[in-house]
Amino acid sequence: MWFVHKQVILTKDNLIKRWWVGSSRCCFCVHDETIQHLFIECPLARLLWRTIHIAFNINPPTSIEGLFRTWLAGI
Ligand SMILES: [Zn+2]
Repeated sequence: MWFVHKQVILTKDNLIKRWWVGSSRCCFCVHDETIQHLFIECPLARLLWRTIHIAFNINPPTSIEGLFRTWLAGI
């Protein structure tokens, strides 16, 4: 979670910044992979957040900042 907070996870957009050669596309959908996309916007992430919402009645975060500001505070 610290890596997510600092936005230093080796997502494809960060790998490309480090001269990695490969597709920037998300493994789960057709969008480019960023931290925001992978943890918040990707359809798979949205499914997981909805599952958590149904199971624990915790609203899904809308951003990485929101994840740390409000979402974790609600747990
Ligand atoms: Zn995706």
